[in-house]
Amino acid sequence: MRFEIFRYDATQPEEPRFDVFHLTPSPGMSVLEAILRIQDEQDPSLSFRYACRSAVCGSCGMAINGRLALACRVQLDRLDTDRVVLEPMPNLEIIRDLVVDMDPFWEKYERVQPWLHAEMIPGQESRMSPKERDRIDQYVNCILCALCYAACPVIRSNEGFTGPAALAKLYRFLADPREQRDPGTLEQENRRQGVWGCHTITRCIQVCPKRVRPTDGIEGVRRKLVVHRFKKLVGKER
Ligand code: SF4
Repeated sequence: MRFEIFRYDATQPEEPRFDVFHLTPSPGMSVLEAILRIQDEQDPSLSFRYACRSAVCGSCGMAINGRLALACRVQLDRLDTDRVVLEPMPNLEIIRDLVVDMDPFWEKYERVQPWLHAEMIPGQESRMSPKERDRIDQYVNCILCALCYAACPVIRSNEGFTGPAALAKLYRFLADPREQRDPGTLEQENRRQGVWGCHTITRCIQVCPKRVRPTDGIEGVRRKLVVHRFKKLVGKER
């Protein structure tokens, strides 16, 4: 099998290129296993991220034959081709080979304050019903792999856009019955670079390996924001 792998080092003056490697895959071998073997046997300088190898850590996102996916989840024999082209995730600066700079993704994630704002009483359970838990389930499953961010066409033209993963996570907390955050903090996302930036193109849904539907979360934040602004108008909220 022929592998064409993107090579680049941001610290060096050389132009990006594709290096070609050949490998005979074993049955069931994943793309991640293949590049680990290439790194081990053919080129130790090949750079990429990985950790858990089981679609939990969200580290090995990349473009595989033009499709964004976790390298640990894609089996070579399912690709139906003898040629595999590997490229780094778009929408993020390339540091080296398949490694991208995740800082903008994390900065935007932090922007939505992705934690529960609630007074917890030590030793006392804070319960929710199974139905309430179901409502946030898909968003809890997000592994922050940034594939949706890389697939989002809005980020290309609106660099400051908060992005699908962060906004979906914001909804995860807003929809949590225990959440007590000041609804006024939602105003931060009331702008073109926030919740109104999404064009509902849904590429985020198509690429998500955990079946999260970020667009639904974004719609949820929009609804909360509209309700908040209405309440503010009639003097029921600050
Ligand atoms: Fe990854 Fe899906 Fe979470 Fe986006 S929503 S970061 S694609 S798990």
